[in-house]
Amino acid sequence: MRTLQTRLFDRRVFLATGASWLTFPTVANSQLPSNPDVIVVGAGSAGLAAARTLIEDGKSVVVVEAADRIGGRAWTESTTFGVPFDHGCSWITSGRDNPYKSMADRWQFELHNHSNAGEELFVGDRRATSDEWAQYSHAWSAVNGALNRAGENGIDVAASTVTPRNLPFSSACETWVGPMDMGVDFKDLSTKDYAEGAETTPSYMVRQGFGAIVARLGAGLPVQLNTPATRISWGGNGVSVETPAGTIRGKACILTVSTGVLGSGAITFDPVLPDWKQQAIHDVPMGLLAKAALQFDGNRLGLNPNEWLTYRVSEDLPTEACFFLTWPFEFDMMIGFLGGEFGWNLSAAGTDAAVDFALGEVVQMVGSDAAKHFVKGDFTRWASNPLTMGAYAAPRPGKFAARGELARQLGDRLFFAGEAVAGPYVATCGGAYLSGEKTARQVSAML
Ligand SMILES: Cc1cc2nc3c(=O)[nH]c(=O)nc-3n(C[C@H](O)[C@H](O)[C@H](O)COP(=O)(O)OP(=O)(O)OC[C@H]3O[C@@H](n4cnc5c(N)ncnc54)[C@H](O)[C@@H]3O)c2cc1C
Repeated sequence: MRTLQTRLFDRRVFLATGASWLTFPTVANSQLPSNPDVIVVGAGSAGLAAARTLIEDGKSVVVVEAADRIGGRAWTESTTFGVPFDHGCSWITSGRDNPYKSMADRWQFELHNHSNAGEELFVGDRRATSDEWAQYSHAWSAVNGALNRAGENGIDVAASTVTPRNLPFSSACETWVGPMDMGVDFKDLSTKDYAEGAETTPSYMVRQGFGAIVARLGAGLPVQLNTPATRISWGGNGVSVETPAGTIRGKACILTVSTGVLGSGAITFDPVLPDWKQQAIHDVPMGLLAKAALQFDGNRLGLNPNEWLTYRVSEDLPTEACFFLTWPFEFDMMIGFLGGEFGWNLSAAGTDAAVDFALGEVVQMVGSDAAKHFVKGDFTRWASNPLTMGAYAAPRPGKFAARGELARQLGDRLFFAGEAVAGPYVATCGGAYLSGEKTARQVSAML
């Protein structure tokens, strides 16, 4: 069950996990085994966790990664703004048990506990009154309560069919929960999927970037970059993975690519995947969360650091909105979040359109000063990135069970891991890690 005031990646609690990685030896990068025990496809959080775990268990591993960097959807980039900008994950959720919290502490990353962040709520160009805050709070109870009731009663339908639509501020809550948290609009959100997600507090932001922690995790692992898997043969003894650089043969393969990539046909399978697996991939498509990052000249526009900036969303256009994180770590940045269908459309319209939209929303709230002090913006490109094809997976209403099918191994050689199959921790980077680790243990035991 989820509680009120769900916020971006601030909603799930990880169960206690072992911390065996803490004593993990460094792995040499240069010598890639040519016939490894296991081939891992994808060097994101799940693939890196799987590789570390397998090596820890004494197995030989090769990770093939299509991109020219590791991390996948965990990616911190500092070139655009001169400060770290996480294009993908940025909150370490459920800090007590998330493996990345321990890594961050161990590697002395600076964290900011963001669990009870303040929020500015606007109605048009003014701040909300106390009565409006009360309405907002009531809308949260109503929306969240309806979703949890449905999900906990085993009802797996579209969120839009069970939640109140016409309360003041219900559209703002719908925008938070749908596109900005789950990556889909309420008509595409499975009530059961929502209710099955674990709570997550405390959650932390990372000054140097969450992606930087994942990059550190992967340092020294045997990853072959710029090496897309194009064909996986799993019919005979063992598995072979074809890449433009050649074919690698192993005893088993752990596939960690997104459901967007799985469904795109970029990797072909011999024999073809069984119908039930193909159906599961179809039933758990990618949702979209996108970020419009805006840089200003140092003027704070009357807004506090590390807070949320939210506004009343039109009931006619729920989810066509962008909510903001203001001045994280006192950087001169606002990070705007948008997603769902609106996010896909704006992504298709391009970076300038998205940045214009986001800046326009800030101007609408705090006035034209925002435009005067604006320096430059950027917009994430997960929608068009062929190596992700979206932000994270979201089962279609009625199809929650497909996550289980997606996770099922094929024979004793083709295994599936990643955020889409991370149990209650789906959609998160920590969940992807745990999924990779768990799958690697299964493979190890089998070998
Ligand atoms: C905008 C955004 C914000 C987010 N915010 C948060 C957050 O605050 N907190 C949080 O915990 N999570 C967040 N997430 C989710 C989190 O980033 C992901 O759940 C997690 O990083 C997924 O890890 P993964 O290993 O499952 O997949 P990926 O990171 O996608 O790894 C798969 C890898 O496979 C590679 N690949 C693809 N095709 C091939 C191929 N043919 N051959 C070889 N390699 C291939 C990809 O390049 C990629 O590196 C966010 C995601 C996005 C997009």
